[in-house]
Amino acid sequence: MDYIFYPNLKKEFPIIVKGEGIYLWDNKGKKYIDACSGALVSNIGHGVDEVIEAIYEQMKKVEFAHRFKFSNEKIIELSEKIIKISPKEISRVLFASGGSEAVETALKLAREYYVEKGKPTKYKVISRWQSYHGNTMGALSLSGNVARRVRYSPLLLDFPHAEPAYCYRCSFDKNPDECNLECAENIEKLVKREGPENIAAIIIEPIVGSTLGAAVPKDGYLQYIRELCDKYDILFIADEVMTGVGRTGKNFAVDHWKVIPDVICMAKGISGGYAPLGAVAIKESIYEVFKKGSGKFAHGYTFAGNPVSAAAGCAVIDYLNKNNLIEKCEKSGDLILNKLEILKEKYPFIGDVRGKGLMMGIEFVKNKRTKETFDPSLGLTERIVDKALEEGLMLYGAALCADGTKGDAVMVAPPLTVTEIEINEIIKILEKVIKDVFESIKF
Ligand code: PLP
Repeated sequence: MDYIFYPNLKKEFPIIVKGEGIYLWDNKGKKYIDACSGALVSNIGHGVDEVIEAIYEQMKKVEFAHRFKFSNEKIIELSEKIIKISPKEISRVLFASGGSEAVETALKLAREYYVEKGKPTKYKVISRWQSYHGNTMGALSLSGNVARRVRYSPLLLDFPHAEPAYCYRCSFDKNPDECNLECAENIEKLVKREGPENIAAIIIEPIVGSTLGAAVPKDGYLQYIRELCDKYDILFIADEVMTGVGRTGKNFAVDHWKVIPDVICMAKGISGGYAPLGAVAIKESIYEVFKKGSGKFAHGYTFAGNPVSAAAGCAVIDYLNKNNLIEKCEKSGDLILNKLEILKEKYPFIGDVRGKGLMMGIEFVKNKRTKETFDPSLGLTERIVDKALEEGLMLYGAALCADGTKGDAVMVAPPLTVTEIEINEIIKILEKVIKDVFESIKF
């Protein structure tokens, strides 16, 4: 008997029994192409023996030793690997078991950092609308996904949200060519309105995933945020839970702009889905404040830093490096983006294609010129994702409507191991799916 309370009680969830490379199989023998790496998690694909063996080897040695009393070899090794791939100045790591936990850690760390520094009024964290930082209460308070927030609103922290950097639908009605980074200025205005003495941090997804479908900011945006944080003594937290550890063709998405945040949250791809794992990498200057201060950060999770997840993380980073997957990702991403551009020219309902590396979004519109959106009651994104699944293709439905706004988008984000032949297979099914769906709504 299946006693599970599934996230959608009106749908059937196929039972997955096997995974290999970019493919998954259910218990009825149906094969799926995992063209979104689950939720941009399975960065090295499914069933990689090296990772499975590394987990097994660690399990045989020791599976758990509580972090309040012990460290372990694998977590030390993983900390070193994370620091090696992180921007310079980032030199310490805290661990968690997933993205929401990593964001909660960053949120509390920012608060404690300013208490330690003798600036206890600095506690608020600025985030942006149409963002996603996780589902736990603190992370949800930061998230600008109204649909997810609404039922919990009395319980959420009253933190300020700024406008997103969403160039296709700019909140300030600017084209990217004529834009003066008004969305970044909007954050500065918010800092001034709230009072910099009250702001501990600004948290940003460098490329916005689940709520905007791979929206890339204009060049200069992240540099602006960096300078803003320096000017007002605010921590810059990059939420790289989705973008981090190679997904966008660099170790971290901030590397595309050579911007160094104070704190980087990562999860998903760091263990490639082989074990629950999250991490928060910070600058030495933050660590120093704690070292010179109370010497403590009273925060943590039972499973954080467990040797088994750490073994998975180490093996995944080794596999990425050994197979040059991050470099390849940039090239495969360009190939897919070119193919998506061709689809955009061909079909009137594709308004925008965007992204970096293997994190790409397709936004659908009723009218390309006016960018008019489809009626949300059509549930277009869900229809596309469902139809794709029927055809054996997994796509990630972006929650553009989550902000009470409108819009439909999906993300294409296969494992970094994806080959040219597999890319052609993905694009072929994708084209069929969108054609079928748009025909069915008599577009
Ligand atoms: N931050 C970002 C940018 C995410 O995309 C997600 C999940 O999609 C999270 C945080 C939350 O991560 P998790 O679902 O592992 O708690």
